[in-house]
Amino acid sequence: MISYSKIKVHIDLDALADNYNLLKKFGPEIIPVIKSDAYGHGLGRVAGRLEKEGADKFAVGFVHEAADLRDSGCSGTIISLLGPQDADDHERLKKGDIIPFVGHFDTLRALAASQEKPLDVSIKFDTGMSRLGFTQAQVPELIEFLRANPMINPVMASSHLAVADEPDGSEITGSQIEVFKSAVSALRESGYAVRANLANSAATLEHKDCLCDMQRVGIALYGCNPFAGTSWEKHVEGLRPAMEVTAPVMHVHTLGKGRGISYGHTYVADRDRTVAVVGVGYADCYSRGLSNTGHMNFDGVRVPIVGRVCMQMTCVDVSGVEAAGKSIKVGDEIHLLGGPGQGKITPEELAGWWKTITYEVFCVLGMNRRIYI
Ligand SMILES: *Cc1c(COP(=O)(O)O)cnc(C)c1O
Repeated sequence: MISYSKIKVHIDLDALADNYNLLKKFGPEIIPVIKSDAYGHGLGRVAGRLEKEGADKFAVGFVHEAADLRDSGCSGTIISLLGPQDADDHERLKKGDIIPFVGHFDTLRALAASQEKPLDVSIKFDTGMSRLGFTQAQVPELIEFLRANPMINPVMASSHLAVADEPDGSEITGSQIEVFKSAVSALRESGYAVRANLANSAATLEHKDCLCDMQRVGIALYGCNPFAGTSWEKHVEGLRPAMEVTAPVMHVHTLGKGRGISYGHTYVADRDRTVAVVGVGYADCYSRGLSNTGHMNFDGVRVPIVGRVCMQMTCVDVSGVEAAGKSIKVGDEIHLLGGPGQGKITPEELAGWWKTITYEVFCVLGMNRRIYI
């Protein structure tokens, strides 16, 4: 595929490994969640490194992601959080080395009909997220179904938390725990020795009562604090973001006092300014919402975006670079995320300017991944 992008996504696999080893201290069996290309960090590379650190189970989204991960050489247990969607997925599952989440009778029936030997599955419960999963009321019917269909072999039970990252969400989380525990007990009392998993990053770090046999951890692995911006922010220390993103400087010039820049002239220089035109834009998933809002980091100096972010270009005011005794020229790399010194752009900050969350910043900027460092 031809790359139209000049931006580079750098992944520090040592940071990922350190985060994983730190998280292992919080509860038994940390399962790295590496759906959506490991949150943009690169499925095969991330799994390969974490396997070296001792990880032997991984969670991805769709079944085809699980098949890709297996093809990349992963020898661990692979879980598909979204389960089978179509006949191709049923074929992929026939090998029996992927454990799908299953949360609906239709899916169970289709699996029972398509598989040639018993298939290990994780029974997914809806305990409050209201997206996918068996409800509490369906548990008796579920157990009846399992008794009648030995082709389905429940080895795990799962659910997902809606507000574990919110300090005032304890009541909802508490009710989710209660519903989950009762569903797990019902399965176990019926003879199904399921291994329970409920916690995401936030719950693993903060809600000891959510810790079960296994925990599914995503965002914290990539170095983000799930409580950023809340009163629990200080509860998490030592995680290091693994992704940095750079783009090249294409042009540097003076923007004279009174002159406007970029579409709509939404920025007009209040005095002579030095601006750099950077080779990144919304076509590279660098949101137009960052216009006149975000900053980049050049050699440790914060430089503000001036004017509108365009399709493949963004302008920044680099007057501060000269003031700091540094110089900037065509061909230099500038950081959109991360970078050296005091100017480091954190994922939380970039997400804030972008009015989104770190998960989205990683996933969309990660789509530009071309090289790894
Ligand atoms: C994405 C996901 C996780 C990981 O969530 P984080 O907040 O990134 O830790 C865990 N479980 C399920 C079902 C998920 O979809």
